[in-house]
Amino acid sequence: MTESNNKKRIVVFAAHGDDLEFTCGGTIAKFTDRGHEVALVVATDNDKGSFELSADELRAARDAEIHRAAELLGIGTVICLGYSDGELREQCPVPELRGKFMRVIREFKADITFTWDPFAPYEGHPDHRTVSAAANEAASFSHFPLYHPEQIAEGLEPHYVAEQWYFAKSPRDQNKFVDITDYVEKKIEALCLHESQMVLTVRDLQFALQASGLDLPWLADLDPHDYRGAIDTQIRAVTAAVGRAHGYDYAEGFRRERHGPIPNLAKGQEAEEDV
Ligand SMILES: [Zn+2]
Repeated sequence: MTESNNKKRIVVFAAHGDDLEFTCGGTIAKFTDRGHEVALVVATDNDKGSFELSADELRAARDAEIHRAAELLGIGTVICLGYSDGELREQCPVPELRGKFMRVIREFKADITFTWDPFAPYEGHPDHRTVSAAANEAASFSHFPLYHPEQIAEGLEPHYVAEQWYFAKSPRDQNKFVDITDYVEKKIEALCLHESQMVLTVRDLQFALQASGLDLPWLADLDPHDYRGAIDTQIRAVTAAVGRAHGYDYAEGFRRERHGPIPNLAKGQEAEEDV
């Protein structure tokens, strides 16, 4: 572990409990290992994420799973907003959610934000689209004092977010790749702590396999509760493919907006990298 002297404050805006682990779990583990401070905001309570539990059972299980996984990754602050899964855009439309996210950025004084990329294509989940739009706007304008002036009147200060990191299911224009070779194990470990969602992930894969008519006996015959091997295989395959293209064993990729237009103005200079 290399402790950084320049400690950053990072906020991850997620729609669901396991978004972080799937998309940036290795990178976040690397940041916290180097002494940077991370807060996680989860907008919904995942109350539709099961084929076998009731919504109430799911809500209870999800809360514990989120906190356990966050602890493993070294995340110090977890904020669950508790909106209903799949209904975020109705229950908290973008302008309202933007205000809530901006409050977190200003209170936590975030240097870096992570969220779903609002400009990546083919994002089918409405909660992901809602969180991505609200977080993008919150991070872009939290230093403008006339945005959500009621927060300034309460004593919060406008705050500039230096870096916005975006992940996506179908990424475009990625420009930052993080070597997570030392952290892929932790990413898988944290994912597996989301037991209800990993059972769901395997069950969903089985629906797709059945519909395809193709033959994958190891998946067809798998008890969804025995998900560990399948998750391990899937995560290593995805992160190894990203790593191969960039000279690492395992990597995660992002589209990163950093320091506004300054990199173009300060040609030949390179700002320091934290991970
Ligand atoms: Zn999600």
